[in-house]
Amino acid sequence: MPTNPQTVTSPASFDAENRVIEALYADVVRRNKGETEFHQAVHEVLETLGPVLARRPEFADARIIERICEPERQLMFRVPWTDDSGTIHVNRGFRVEFSSALGPYKGGLRFHPSVNLGIVKFLGFEQIFKNALTGLSIGGGKGGSDFDPKGSSDAEIMRFCQSFMTELYRHLGEHTDVPAGDIGVGGREIGYLFGQYKRITNRYESGVLTGKGLGWGGAQVRTEATGYGCVLFTAEMLRSRGEGLEGRRVAVSGSGNVALYAIEKAQQLGATVVTCSDSSGYVVDEKGIDLELLKEVKEVRRGRVADYAELRGSHVRFVEAAGEGTGVWGVPCDVALPCATQNELDETDALALVRGGVKAVAEGANMPTTPAAVRVFQEAGVAFGPGKAANAGGVATSALEMQQNASRDSWTFARTEERLAGIMRHIHDSCATTAERYGHPGNYVVGANIAGFELVADAMLAQGLV
Ligand code: NDP
Repeated sequence: MPTNPQTVTSPASFDAENRVIEALYADVVRRNKGETEFHQAVHEVLETLGPVLARRPEFADARIIERICEPERQLMFRVPWTDDSGTIHVNRGFRVEFSSALGPYKGGLRFHPSVNLGIVKFLGFEQIFKNALTGLSIGGGKGGSDFDPKGSSDAEIMRFCQSFMTELYRHLGEHTDVPAGDIGVGGREIGYLFGQYKRITNRYESGVLTGKGLGWGGAQVRTEATGYGCVLFTAEMLRSRGEGLEGRRVAVSGSGNVALYAIEKAQQLGATVVTCSDSSGYVVDEKGIDLELLKEVKEVRRGRVADYAELRGSHVRFVEAAGEGTGVWGVPCDVALPCATQNELDETDALALVRGGVKAVAEGANMPTTPAAVRVFQEAGVAFGPGKAANAGGVATSALEMQQNASRDSWTFARTEERLAGIMRHIHDSCATTAERYGHPGNYVVGANIAGFELVADAMLAQGLV
């Protein structure tokens, strides 16, 4: 996997079926200059919506697409903090409250040096449709900061989180906007953020953040949910082709929250996972990843995959990241699960995977596959699950956490996992039936975009011009 994921220029053309949307997309590019990831995410949705507007002219009359592409609110703020030596740093905080048509704004916070407004908008835009697909009452939002938690002490991270929340708290609320984690924001950060919210507001408002610790309002399975859900979605795609995960060889990228639990569920379902990665390189473990060891390296030692390779034994190959180009995706596999970051799997990688015999690809990360790579998979007949469907298990379980907080209840692991499996099946089936309804059987990209869009658009129509 490349250290700097491939930069993608704004996509340009639409096919004949979707040409009606072209002018709307051109307007989005003009109004949001330089935000290439946002353009890419909008293009990917809009290029499937032409047939919907043809069948439902009331959506065009109400200018639903123009409205859905414009966030309801965009917040940017200063986050000053001091490091352990007393040096002052100034970061930028973001929260994009994109759509509240279906419920309170809901979506994670990302702390990573690459974060900018365009990235937060791309993630927030995706989140609208993903959240709709879960069938639960949650709107779409996303936020974060260009703060780099890597190498910071716990005390520094706490001070940063406190400063970040000191501004953000006024925009949040269990019925208003409910953030969660994402890259660089795990249980530790959610704890510090929640503590500061509680202190400032003098309210124990459990439902204001999700991804909390189990002892103080968190839900069982939330930690595992995105990775588990991605594998459950993959299993559904394979099942609809009369196949399964048992005995399959799986390649995973990343070694963070999503990757670890994608590995765990794939192993539980009888697959052998042979890779994982981080921004410094990837490992190939032909005996199958030793998950206990990988978790210890990542979660206890806060180490790197290179440390895993060293501890695991001489049969493991560590390959250092060598700029852009084929990394982990050069390893032949039956199933590929990109679980690291956006645009990490490009056309060259897709061609290598197809040559290696890949049968299914599901996005654990948000938009990890470039548009050209998606086309390669679709033309080769590979089952391809887009992130807004395949990684929706995380936010779905967050919505279950909100339900439990609202009723001051807590469910068992088994009950929550059963709900998650039901939700992933529902998402798979609604993508599949919608794709079929619009004449694209087996195309989960079309199915996910249209199914999510119709739900949000119908609610917007009903709620009037707001
Ligand atoms: P983590 O921070 O836990 O892990 C991210 C992993 O991806 C790390 O291994 C990291 O390596 C790698 N990575 C991140 N950025 C880059 C980069 N620019 N280049 C190469 N490698 C990179 O994040 P999560 O696992 O939570 O999130 C992973 C993806 O899944 C993201 O796209 C996120 O938006 C998406 N997602 C997450 C959900 C969740 O519930 N957590 C829900 C839905 C989607 P390194 O440590 O070297 O940076």
